[in-house]
Amino acid sequence: MTTIAFIGLGNMGGPMAANLVKAGHEVLGFDLAPASCEAARAEGVAIASSAGGAVAGAEAVVTMLPAGRHVLAVWGEILPAVAPGALLVDCSTIDVESARRAHALAAERGCLSVDAPVSGGTVGAKAATLTFMAGGVAEAFGRAEPILARMGRRVVHCGEAGAGQAAKICNNMILGISMIGISEAFVLAEKLGLSHQALFDVASTSSGSCWALTTHCPVPGPVPTSAANHGYKPGFAAELMLKDLRLAQAAALTAGAATPLGAEAAALYGLYAAAGQAGSDYSGIINFLRGRAAATA
Ligand code: NAD
Repeated sequence: MTTIAFIGLGNMGGPMAANLVKAGHEVLGFDLAPASCEAARAEGVAIASSAGGAVAGAEAVVTMLPAGRHVLAVWGEILPAVAPGALLVDCSTIDVESARRAHALAAERGCLSVDAPVSGGTVGAKAATLTFMAGGVAEAFGRAEPILARMGRRVVHCGEAGAGQAAKICNNMILGISMIGISEAFVLAEKLGLSHQALFDVASTSSGSCWALTTHCPVPGPVPTSAANHGYKPGFAAELMLKDLRLAQAAALTAGAATPLGAEAAALYGLYAAAGQAGSDYSGIINFLRGRAAATA
């Protein structure tokens, strides 16, 4: 059993902390939102009165926060209270630069650290089937892996500090571009009088097949579990896709990488979100490509 502090008990962090409790760890949590604290308490997470209070005495600290500025603020706040030698693991999706700054803060305190963003959404967080993409030195990864393995199904060591965030934004740039490509194909098929099912049956078993098509098919019917069958209720909200695409664009600018389709995807999801669909599933972009903000009956 390890004593673990968990800061950020929201939609993802709450169930992840609960899975650490189920795995037999002692988990001390904190969140600014009282409702998140109460929900986590009901799952067996002990609640501290501050982030600093949660980390004192912890062998490992996990953070699951909205963005880079939150992670840097929280790590800056907790590091003076963290026991030297404790492990810090940030599972939030944040920009690569902030992730590297967070690693540097931990190193100044003599702590090992890992950036370990996730894929799998709230369903994966609850079911402990997340994929973790980790960045950090081998020793830090070695200590983080058994903890992450209790919250997910797959833990990949991607490289040094920031490599987990790099993998996450590259992966999600592929996903965003793929969904737009799939949606364009279905819209074209509609204009050509080709049925959704026929296109799906061909593309899903041909060179056009990809995970976004076979799992998140943007039209109702072919994949019963896709959000298209449920009024584009997320799933994976368009605003989160937009966040990840913008992180990819920021990184591309800094690194000097040419990502014209990533830029176009970020622009399209920006327009879709601005049309009032930020909270819809990202596959609802198909309605935007049909010239409508949302699905119509
Ligand atoms: P969320 O908004 O539900 O949870 C974030 C929590 O952080 C909130 O409860 C908030 O009160 C808390 N918080 C903010 N500042 C704090 C502070 N200073 N101290 C303590 N708590 C603080 O967000 P989420 O959906 O759980 O996402 C968390 C991270 O995971 C994000 O970076 C997101 O991009 C990433 N992510 C989310 C999903 C998803 O499907 N929701 C999937 C993969 C990755």
